[in-house]
Amino acid sequence: MKRILVTGAAGFLGSHLCDRFINEGYHVIGMDNFITGDQKNIKHLKGHTNFEFVEHDVTKFVNVNGDLDYILHFASPASPIDYLKIPIQTLKVGALGTHNLLGLAMAKKARILIASTSEVYGDPLVHPQTEDYYGNVNTIGPRGVYDEAKRFQESITMAYHRFHGLETRIVRIFNTYGPRMRLNDGRVIPAFMGQALRGEDLTIFGDGSQTRSFCFVDDQVEGIYRLLLSDYQYPVNIGNPNEISIKNFAEEIIRLTGAANKVIYKDLPINDPLQRQPDISLAKKVLGWEPKVDRKQGMAITFEYFKGLSQEELYKREH
Ligand code: NAD
Ligand code: UDP
Repeated sequence: MKRILVTGAAGFLGSHLCDRFINEGYHVIGMDNFITGDQKNIKHLKGHTNFEFVEHDVTKFVNVNGDLDYILHFASPASPIDYLKIPIQTLKVGALGTHNLLGLAMAKKARILIASTSEVYGDPLVHPQTEDYYGNVNTIGPRGVYDEAKRFQESITMAYHRFHGLETRIVRIFNTYGPRMRLNDGRVIPAFMGQALRGEDLTIFGDGSQTRSFCFVDDQVEGIYRLLLSDYQYPVNIGNPNEISIKNFAEEIIRLTGAANKVIYKDLPINDPLQRQPDISLAKKVLGWEPKVDRKQGMAITFEYFKGLSQEELYKREH
């Protein structure tokens, strides 16, 4: 049986990856320090014979008992308000955490896939974004802590590949959504869902003309799964190219939830990218992958998840 370590296992993407690899017949070791994750995301795996969990901060020396065939490094705050609140930890998990996991991959002779992001393109001057675009990031802006940690993460990963011959994979993830997103993590989908369910106005930042392209989690997990098992060593964009402005998206959510809410406008956060859309030609070519779930379908599933939250969860404030 193949053995895989998933860091960030109690988070949104990490928990779905644990599910997928268990279903594929792997033995999964989940690791997390719960800084932005939640026990509840992996509760259903407790006691599963092919799942074990280690509570650990990956910025400290990492070890696991036994052999490892694969590592998926997904530990990192991912939402702007999370990484603005814990900027140093964000830099550390991208830099020191990645270094520790690359070292572990060397020691175990394992293949490692790291979770990079569309944020390496910053506020892009090329549209849609192709993997050969170098990006437009403000190193000293508030978002720089995340963007630069991820850029360093890619550099050190390629250095381990070139210098040590380590088997590495890099996925550049574009905005992904679905069940198990944290209601209060500040990202636009949980923010709008929570507002709709509480009967509050939906907060659009800026004039709402900025665009994003939202990928359903099952499609994202399929892309990551294929990339891990592929022979391709360079970064690959995984995301859904269907782009929408935030203003139109707010209207879509109001229609979906049947809420009688209005939209209100707030200041645009500093360095908030104006547009974002993945070019997925490379993923199509090397992985034979493209998204299958359209936004209407994916958002309906996601809304069902948020509707299932308790009143206490719905009204809990974090920020
Ligand atoms: P998340 O916040 O739900 O999950 C991240 C998990 O990492 C959490 O459970 C958190 O507790 C854990 N973690 C953070 N620092 C840690 C540390 N030092 N040691 C151990 N565990 C730690 O976020 P997510 O959306 O699931 O994102 C997962 C990964 O995917 C991140 O690396 C993120 O940068 C990347 N990503 C996500 C998206 C997206 O749209 N969801 C987009 C681009 C990149
Ligand atoms: N956004 C918004 N209202 C909110 C939360 C976010 O208008 O309540 C905007 C945000 O400014 C950005 C877009 O929605 O332009 C996506 O934000 P998110 O935090 O989900 O992801 P990212 O900026 O990292 O793509």
